[in-house]
Amino acid sequence: MPPIKVTIVGSGNWGSVAAKLIASNTLKLSSFHDEVRMWVFEETLPTGEKLTEVINNTNENVKYLPGIKLGKNVVADPDIENAVRDATMLVFVTPHQFMEGICKRLMGKIRSDAEAISLIKGMEVKRDGPCMISSLISEHLGISCCVLMGANIANEIALEQFSEATVGYRKNKEIADKWVKLFHTSYFMVSCVQDVEGVELCGTLKNDSWMGWRWGTTQRFISGSKLIILCLYQAAIMRIGLREMKAFSKLLFPSVKDTTFFESCGVADLITTCLGGRNRRCAEAFAKNGGKRSFDELEAEMLQGQKLQGVSTAKEVHEVLSHRGWLENFPLFSTVHEICCGRLPPTAIVVFSELAPDQS
Ligand code: NAD
Ligand code: 13P
Repeated sequence: MPPIKVTIVGSGNWGSVAAKLIASNTLKLSSFHDEVRMWVFEETLPTGEKLTEVINNTNENVKYLPGIKLGKNVVADPDIENAVRDATMLVFVTPHQFMEGICKRLMGKIRSDAEAISLIKGMEVKRDGPCMISSLISEHLGISCCVLMGANIANEIALEQFSEATVGYRKNKEIADKWVKLFHTSYFMVSCVQDVEGVELCGTLKNDSWMGWRWGTTQRFISGSKLIILCLYQAAIMRIGLREMKAFSKLLFPSVKDTTFFESCGVADLITTCLGGRNRRCAEAFAKNGGKRSFDELEAEMLQGQKLQGVSTAKEVHEVLSHRGWLENFPLFSTVHEICCGRLPPTAIVVFSELAPDQS
């Protein structure tokens, strides 16, 4: 058997960390080709240099993951078709809003025996309903697609701080094990569960920024109060968020397993999003400004090219809820969207829970 070739489609903050993790493993595992190809959405840096050239010369993604060596076996490639041509393992990790265009460009351009995994937290909403990113990949490219989600903050994992992740697979456990082998390291503990939709929905729904929201808004709302009151609010928000994540997932896919919510992709990722990450930072800044500065403005200023996923996910979730007549059962998701749109002030988040019906 020739060694397996791996290509990463995406090279942002998390995409670059995925490259580092994978590149350290392909050097150790004889079943994999050493080289890891990484497709880079080409851009010109303020120095006038191309990002791909800098990555290949310095072994560092100076824009999206500065200060971290990716591994000498990572090759940045600005040509997406060339990057995927020989690969039999394809790792998709771009902001979710770019994936439909990418899938269309790749139709007929990949090997028929390729396998995919998506690290992307988000979904598309079509006229006939929501479409998870793993389904988008499978449907356009005609290949099966696992997912990897978890309580993961890219910059910390880049520094080899410990964290866990969950691979979700549909049927073939052997393929899931191959993905686990490719990602697992001493500081990145990966396990797998047979529940693609459950794992992907956990990653997507927690990314709706609602947790970060209340953190910021609550701090503002009760500033000067005791820390314990803050904790009570935050705990309540996390609990209601988890309940809505579970209810929404099960309405869309009744096969989603309860146990998935106790994996790294579930409750652990939810807590992580409340405590750190870009959604939380931007939501906090939004609340501090009383909603007067838009998320687009804050994203551009605070993230320097990285993309916020929560605001668009809130809109996509809201579209599904309103189209299906489910809005009143999801007061937290609905309120987050209304705040994002400027129809409610950030402080609205602390009163919504009084309206929340008790669901099990
Ligand atoms: P990022 O936010 O750093 O995104 C920027 C990337 O988008 C860059 O590579 C940029 O070149 C690219 N880009 C910009 N315009 C583009 C276009 N028109 N077409 C294609 N690409 C374009 O990306 P990220 O942090 O790697 O996030 C990718 C996914 O991983 C997201 O779904 C995110 O939720 C998820 N994720 C991120 C983290 C994290 O800590 N960063 C952790 C877990 C999961
Ligand atoms: P942010 O996009 O908010 O940084 O979240 C990253 C993440 O997915 C945490 O698990």
